[in-house]
Amino acid sequence: MSKIVAAAAIRGARAITKEAEDSLKKAIAERGPETKIGFPDTAFFLPMANALLGLEVKTLKEALVPLNYAKSLLPAVPKDNLWLPYLGDALDAGIATLLSEEIIVVLRYLYNQEPQADCNGFFTDTTIRSLGIQLVDGRMPGFAAILGAAPTNEIAVEIVRQLQERNILIFVGSSSNGRSIIDQLKESGVEMGWDTYIVPYGRDTTTAIYPLNWAIRSAMTFGGIKAGQARKCLLYTKERVFAFGLALGLVDDLKYATGAGAINMGFPVIADTDIPEIKPSGITTYEALVKEFDYKKIVQRCIEVRGVRVKVSKIPIPVLYGAAFEGERVRREQLYCEFGGKSSQAFELIVTRDSDKIEDGKITLVGPDIDQLPEGKKSLPLGVLVEVAGRKMQKDFEPILERQLHRFFNYCMGVMHIGQRDINWIRISKDSHAKGLRIKHLGIVLHAMIHQEFGAITDKVQVTLFTNQEDVDRELAEARRVYVERDERLSGITDESVDTFYSCELCQSFAPNHICVITPERVGLCGAYSWLDTKAAYEIAPAGGNKPIAKKECIDPVSGEWASVNEYVNMRSNKAVERFSLYSIVNNPTTSCGCFECILAFVPEANGIMIVHRDFSGMTPCGMTFTTLAGSVGGGIQTPGFLGVGKIYITSKKFISADGGLRRIIWMPKDLKVSLGEKLVKMAEEIGEPGLVEKIADETNATTTEELLPFLEKVKHPALTMPPLI
Ligand code: SF4
Ligand code: ZN
Repeated sequence: MSKIVAAAAIRGARAITKEAEDSLKKAIAERGPETKIGFPDTAFFLPMANALLGLEVKTLKEALVPLNYAKSLLPAVPKDNLWLPYLGDALDAGIATLLSEEIIVVLRYLYNQEPQADCNGFFTDTTIRSLGIQLVDGRMPGFAAILGAAPTNEIAVEIVRQLQERNILIFVGSSSNGRSIIDQLKESGVEMGWDTYIVPYGRDTTTAIYPLNWAIRSAMTFGGIKAGQARKCLLYTKERVFAFGLALGLVDDLKYATGAGAINMGFPVIADTDIPEIKPSGITTYEALVKEFDYKKIVQRCIEVRGVRVKVSKIPIPVLYGAAFEGERVRREQLYCEFGGKSSQAFELIVTRDSDKIEDGKITLVGPDIDQLPEGKKSLPLGVLVEVAGRKMQKDFEPILERQLHRFFNYCMGVMHIGQRDINWIRISKDSHAKGLRIKHLGIVLHAMIHQEFGAITDKVQVTLFTNQEDVDRELAEARRVYVERDERLSGITDESVDTFYSCELCQSFAPNHICVITPERVGLCGAYSWLDTKAAYEIAPAGGNKPIAKKECIDPVSGEWASVNEYVNMRSNKAVERFSLYSIVNNPTTSCGCFECILAFVPEANGIMIVHRDFSGMTPCGMTFTTLAGSVGGGIQTPGFLGVGKIYITSKKFISADGGLRRIIWMPKDLKVSLGEKLVKMAEEIGEPGLVEKIADETNATTTEELLPFLEKVKHPALTMPPLI
């Protein structure tokens, strides 16, 4: 270890620990030792202190414990002639820095000084969980934390674009020479936020703790590691969280100290200045501290140093392409041309053809392109017809492929896609048009992406794009016929009508004992996988995360228990789970990983069950918020009385049918009722309880059991007269 680096890191650590101590003393003097402190929406208190020391810091007084621990770690600053053979001292300084920074920022929350303008501030538990799937399936291969500022705004933009194109989530912040990359990106009109994969944390180095205390929580959330198991947490982040730091501009003492903290977590730091490098150390997978002066190469260098596995698909179109652009909007001011929505009629359809009827790679535009728009016009009708052929292609896969069109369109920078089928809506931005993007490129994208992601079932992909009104009208009539036929076929598929269910084991990488058993009437709890999806996934990639489970030896049709399912689950859950009831929350309910869209919880006072969804941050009648509930339900265990489910399952006939189904539901947030809409109303009618939806309380009637019970009595909720649940 370079002694220059060690000395700088130790100096930085001493200074920041002193700052934490001064701020904490001041806060205790001003507000009193018992004053509550904490970050918004987290079950992990001060996450670093929680993960590394097992502490649950809730008050100013309790913050003294991690502070004193940090102080005890502080090594002396080495003299110039002293040789430090090990990283040891600098690493301790790094841990002291993380603990101190966390105290400083939580105090800023107490004084309403965080989040800073245009910044996210503390990253909540919800953001970890909602990124869960993307982290697992490789759509998001890594994280970059950028500190400082690039020499010019153009270079700043160039660096984040390169990272975006590789789908790397980017945290931007800190400053060098009084300048922050946040402002460089802002001035260049770069859209920032979770949707665009560019998240500003704060303009000083202390706030770099946000991405780090976010990363450490993933060890506890997804790795099932207990608070206080410091070594395990740090190993987990090294092995599972592909993060790195990128220091732009001068690296001062505090950046060295924070960098030393990151290195403890296995995250290397790459700088664009002449710093002393630290070669392989064992703490990080490859190098720990590296310099790279060439901005064209710096992103590639980061990726190599951290060992990030990036799947880049180079598609020959004139704009950037990647998942990072999926959430980007095209607003009215940026609008060059749109299709569908309120402006015109559009549709998209994927159909299967005989192989000799189509030609692979043939992209045809019938009608004018967007550069032939009449003066003052900003919209065109658009029909997108994708014809595919393949020996393993099945009609049932068409809707699955079709649903991906949304993503494939949105990955184009400057293209926004909303909706599906004949209610789709596509916008193209002025910038992208200026770069040369034309309608035909959309066809090129679809052809390339279908081959790339569904190569196992599609041999040929042909795309025809229609922009004349009469062609769109004619093709649309045919498309609508196909939509209706599909819906009729799919609505006929029930749990009884099939002989195979499917497993989904994708979440085992972070919840090793968890399995979703997916049936036609019960989606995976993340809501992302239906029975058809898993069936298709299995046929496309038999070695993947979805396996067929033959439906054999029914033990109980009411609770939904099959011997073959139990056997499979037992085998694949490392023998942790013996029985699964697919339709019950009480007896041997299924396990929950952490990705559930909604949580069901038994409310004994009301003899019923409440539901809360992920986006609802308020209090619920069981006395817990979604986040707190999620902490006790997740991790791949069975928790009778609690269950994670996919949203759409609520409107299924098999929805906890063993426990009384929808009739048991006594509370759910208003937003959830609205988003389930007609489907919920219809299901209530089908079970012979018209008007049930109004009898289900929401946060406007009750947020405690004291408020809930009188409401349920007043509306004569059926749950009150049902047999006891337990
Ligand atoms: Fe994870 Fe279940 Fe969703 Fe599969 S279906 S990704 S196992 S939550
Ligand atoms: Zn999951």
